[in-house]
Amino acid sequence: MNEHQRHVKARQDIMKGNTPEKRIFVHMEDLDEKKKRQDEIKVERERKNDRMDALKEAKTPWFCPECNKVMKSRLDDKMYRLHNHCFDCQVKFENKLRIEGKYDEWEEEKVLNNQLSYIRDQIESIESWREEAIKPVEVFDQVGVQDVELQTEKWSKNTEKVEEMSNEALEELNKMKTEVEEKLNSFVI
Ligand SMILES: [Zn+2]
Repeated sequence: MNEHQRHVKARQDIMKGNTPEKRIFVHMEDLDEKKKRQDEIKVERERKNDRMDALKEAKTPWFCPECNKVMKSRLDDKMYRLHNHCFDCQVKFENKLRIEGKYDEWEEEKVLNNQLSYIRDQIESIESWREEAIKPVEVFDQVGVQDVELQTEKWSKNTEKVEEMSNEALEELNKMKTEVEEKLNSFVI
């Protein structure tokens, strides 16, 4: 039904004493606008990563802050980024841990820290997915009262589903997070 036909029908309905069909305009996000914003976010994220890389690059000093050795190898560079001292110092540190019988614990702690940052990333991505997913993304046009009811129902069901799925996942992840944090807290190195 085009706009003219709608007007004709609405007039006829009014003449007959019936309630004319209502048109409902639901303002949805402009998809182009959304795409543009996503691109902006992507660019911003890349810029941030570049900045972080640049910072890391700039932060590796010439001398190891612990033993003052010149840090010239790739291994030194890598170790400095991870542990803030040169490769030799890291080898010494790990040997000391082995001698003290703390190496396994230290290694496990490292693994747990990695898990924790993975879980945090997951939580963050689910939260932003939920935020995006419950936003209406389709334009629909009202026709007849019954259709509107159906449409509305469909929408609220989608939102519920999204909430349900994300809540379930978040609950699980938060449980994992607590477990990992508890394990980490039990370490004292
Ligand atoms: Zn060193």
